[in-house]
Amino acid sequence: MIGGGISGVTAAWELRRQLGPEAAITVFEAYDRLGGKLKTVDFADGPVDMGAEAFLTRRTGLDAIIREVGLADQLRVPSGLPSGFFADGHLVSAPAHTVMGIPAHGADVADLVSVETAARIDAEPDAAGLDWTPGTDINVGELVRSRYGDEAVQRLVSPMLGGVYSSSADDLGLRATVPDLAAEFDALAERDGTVHLATAVQRMLDRRAVAAEKQRESGTAPAPAFNTLATGYRELVRQLARAADADIRLNSQVESVSSWQGGYWLEPFGQFDAVIVATPAPTAAVLLQDVVPHAATRLDRVQLASSAVVGMRFATDEGLPRRSGVLLGSDAPTHAKAFTFSSRKWPHIADRGGAFVRASFGTLRDPGLLDADDETLIGYAVEDLATVTGASLRPVETFVQRWWGGLPCYGVGHRRLVDGVRAAVAEVDGIAVAGAVFDGVGVPACADTGRAAATKIVADLGAR
Ligand SMILES: Cc1cc2nc3c(=O)[nH]c(=O)nc-3n(C[C@H](O)[C@H](O)[C@H](O)COP(=O)(O)OP(=O)(O)OC[C@H]3O[C@@H](n4cnc5c(N)ncnc54)[C@H](O)[C@@H]3O)c2cc1C
Repeated sequence: MIGGGISGVTAAWELRRQLGPEAAITVFEAYDRLGGKLKTVDFADGPVDMGAEAFLTRRTGLDAIIREVGLADQLRVPSGLPSGFFADGHLVSAPAHTVMGIPAHGADVADLVSVETAARIDAEPDAAGLDWTPGTDINVGELVRSRYGDEAVQRLVSPMLGGVYSSSADDLGLRATVPDLAAEFDALAERDGTVHLATAVQRMLDRRAVAAEKQRESGTAPAPAFNTLATGYRELVRQLARAADADIRLNSQVESVSSWQGGYWLEPFGQFDAVIVATPAPTAAVLLQDVVPHAATRLDRVQLASSAVVGMRFATDEGLPRRSGVLLGSDAPTHAKAFTFSSRKWPHIADRGGAFVRASFGTLRDPGLLDADDETLIGYAVEDLATVTGASLRPVETFVQRWWGGLPCYGVGHRRLVDGVRAAVAEVDGIAVAGAVFDGVGVPACADTGRAAATKIVADLGAR
């Protein structure tokens, strides 16, 4: 195993499950700790995650893993407080009726955009249809700008997508980041021959409303969209590593992988029967260049977006809005791109007293801010928090975490790129890949790629 993030550690765990106690499993991790983009920091009143801090529940695999490694009692649900947007100097509620910030009607986003933009959104179905060929892809920023104008990109869609990918809408492809909308375009083009953005979004919202109605009728409360762990992600990584019972080699960077006597040679560590590469895409490209060159050339095209998180603990929550967080438009007068009001979002953090806030900085096109020293980043976080809340809050404890190359950028054609990588790797015996570049950047998606990679290796070994 190369890479000790959640993808690699889950793959090691799955290998152990499938291969049993006799298998020799080794995890090489370049850094001095496991977890990769999962990092839990101990503040004076308890642990807080400084990388990923939640996970979507729609994909159920991670929940199952958490239960299987004995952490079910650590699962926590959010308070349900709404998140907000900051626009024109005001904090407003996040619009309820959009698809990743893309509305079907101007009235649904009237608090966030000008009257002109709202009118343009309403007029979109009367404009000429989009030129759409089913199965193709499009840049999200260009799509929304061409139909609704630039303000909708800056104030609605980029903040939403930026919160997930640390990239603006102009760097992301629709097929990989809003796949259901791309599929809706395909369906409309095949059915009517004409595609309008507002129509496609409305159809998705209608389906969502029908599903919500069915849920209401069934009498079951909808499950929260995301969960977290009271102990932070650190405990999950620990438990997975423990159950994987692998030989964990920290501070061990693998430099290359080459075929060697029916197996693989990992430089400088030696020979192994099979290898799972679970590193970020550019590193995976280097590691795969000899053994799966067609995968390597594709992975090499993936850019990484860097970001920073400033964690701030406050003695009091006075002045902190009753929201779970706030997204800042790319035209907002702030350095930060988002705030998570952790003690509002998570009751178990609120129970500690005081308040906790995470400020997020940086996007793919704007990594320069990360060169600022800690004091400057903390200063920006405090200043921006005052701009957004109107209250002057002073932290009693802070932590600055920089995530160089934190997230892969899912650009136009990303799905096809990933399919190409997978097809190339499938042909090679004893090699598998996992990680955030494949099926979504979220922790559940990464864990799923780890399990699938382990399953391929077990099948390859079985076939030998
Ligand atoms: C700031 C931030 C917030 C996020 N928030 C959320 C969230 O709330 N919810 C969510 O679901 N997801 C979130 N994510 C995304 C999620 O955390 C990541 O996509 C996921 O953790 C990536 O896991 P991974 O194992 O694929 O990669 P990584 O975590 O990058 O792990 C790869 C590992 O490989 C190691 N490595 C690299 N090269 C080598 C080598 N040559 N030899 C040995 N080891 C090597 C690295 O040191 C690293 O430890 C967030 C990400 C960031 C950056």
